[in-house]
Amino acid sequence: MSETAPADGTVASAARTDAPPAILLDRVNKWFGTLHVLRDVSLAVAPGERVVVCGPSGSGKSTMIRCINRLEKHQEGRIVVDGIELTDDLRALDAIRREVGMVFQSFNLFPHLTVLENCTLAPIWVRRMPRKEAEELAMELLTRVRIPEQAHKYPGQLSGGQQQRVAIARALCMRPKIMLFDEPTSALDPEMIKEVLDVMVELAETGMTMMVVTHEMGFARQVADRVVFMDRGEIVEVGTPAEIFNDPKTDRLKLFLSQIL
Ligand code: ADP
Ligand code: MG
Repeated sequence: MSETAPADGTVASAARTDAPPAILLDRVNKWFGTLHVLRDVSLAVAPGERVVVCGPSGSGKSTMIRCINRLEKHQEGRIVVDGIELTDDLRALDAIRREVGMVFQSFNLFPHLTVLENCTLAPIWVRRMPRKEAEELAMELLTRVRIPEQAHKYPGQLSGGQQQRVAIARALCMRPKIMLFDEPTSALDPEMIKEVLDVMVELAETGMTMMVVTHEMGFARQVADRVVFMDRGEIVEVGTPAEIFNDPKTDRLKLFLSQIL
């Protein structure tokens, strides 16, 4: 598997489409009360694949991604993550949470813990990693997101872009197989967006399976193997970045693109 970038600046795909899917959604339906928010959503994400999800506000993007690590429960259909079906079985839930890292729009760091403590908390208490080992791993990952010098500060002392990079490092400290991102740059000032996207591009280059809700089209074009367009709880179109952005088929996608581009 090559990790060298193709000459056009895009990131070489690491997707292994012959392998069983890393994430499988099979006719998933979900309601909030009477509101039908996911309608027969089916999607298979291959190991190493990078999928970008876009669509209007309220179309169900966050709900779909939150169902994948069971922050929300679906009511119909199947979700299988790395071979584990999401059910009410708590052991399955534990296994999923260890394998799937998630990064939110609003960072969600613990404000009363230092950056280093934010990163070592779950490895020590969930993975039972010795403290010294957890701290070494955290420093390695903080170096990867280019903020090792912030390790002993508190989140409130950092910029938004730095906090989001801590959130990424913290998720990676659990050594997840899959990373989910829900609009990771939409709460950031413009000058900080790039530093977070750069870290995500590098993560993509390592072959990580990634599902990213974002409207950052440059990122999608550079990194995504496929782009999923959602509207009103449905997956309306799926294609390569070129297919989705240059050759939209449906009026709904054409309208959406006219509003964001
Ligand atoms: P998106 O991320 O695409 O903006 P969401 O998945 O957040 O969309 O929301 C999909 C729909 O579900 C919206 O109509 C939203 O108002 C509704 N919704 C989201 N979370 C809840 C909740 N916890 N309770 C009730 N309705 C919700
Ligand atoms: Mg959302």
